[in-house]
Amino acid sequence: MGILKGKVAVVTGSTSGIGLAYARAFAGAGANIVLNGMGAPADVEKERSAVESDFGVKAVYSPADMAKPNEIAELVALGEKTFGSVDVLVNNAGVQHVAPIEEFPIDKWNAIIAINLSSAFHTIRAAVPGMKRRGWGRIITTASAHSQVASPFKSAYVAAKHGIAGLTKTVALELARSKITCNCISPGYVWTPLVEKQIPNTMKARNMDRDQVINDVLLAAQPTKEFVTVEQVASLALFLCGEGAAQITGANLSIDGGWTAA
Ligand code: NAD
Repeated sequence: MGILKGKVAVVTGSTSGIGLAYARAFAGAGANIVLNGMGAPADVEKERSAVESDFGVKAVYSPADMAKPNEIAELVALGEKTFGSVDVLVNNAGVQHVAPIEEFPIDKWNAIIAINLSSAFHTIRAAVPGMKRRGWGRIITTASAHSQVASPFKSAYVAAKHGIAGLTKTVALELARSKITCNCISPGYVWTPLVEKQIPNTMKARNMDRDQVINDVLLAAQPTKEFVTVEQVASLALFLCGEGAAQITGANLSIDGGWTAA
């Protein structure tokens, strides 16, 4: 029997990449799923119905925009209304923009802080009362190696991810006696659309070709010289949901091919 049988997981930004891998891993462990994120309706519906048919659980989708606090509250409410609880909350939605600080567009700064940092405050705030009432919960946020170290041209992203590490510690301490853990996972480079999309801007910012960006910028920091896979990140998140991880809280867990060891 799956370790999440009867539980409900809300995963923000789960129409793609790491978030979709989390959703599928939790569904494989028996959880009902609330999917969220952007995407063409037909593509989203394909992923939603695949979660149901592949794993024999229920999955609903919310298009809530993680930049909008009222829609974020509605996302958590949807999980509670549809399935009766939100037991596992994963803050994963994220965007990136690469530019020198003096040219960094103000609207991009605001969007990255809203989606990558403030959305986690709003989801946690909305989900914690139910978790406390039921006496169990798991809160996981996808941070990044950029929650621990910086790279040039990613001011907003690095600031947001460092913020996630601090928010995680604070929430963990507040919930330490409530059987709710709060951790973040910090991947290095994982091959997803988010990484692929930043290649053109990085080519421009650093005056490099595509192969140079992949080898000399992305994998330069990763001693294993391999991308992390979405399945590897999801298996760490699933581990955090189990009883074996009940005493892991406030942690920032690296899964980065050795990046932050250097
Ligand atoms: P991705 O682009 O494949 O997925 C991002 C998800 O967030 C998508 O489902 C997208 O629709 C959703 N999203 C974007 N804006 C949204 C909004 N306003 N409201 C709701 N959903 C929104 O990227 P990914 O690589 O899977 O990234 C997932 C998380 O992992 C992000 O927080 C990212 O910062 C983090 N991360 C990624 C890597 C990497 O190398 N890919 C490394 C470290 C951390």
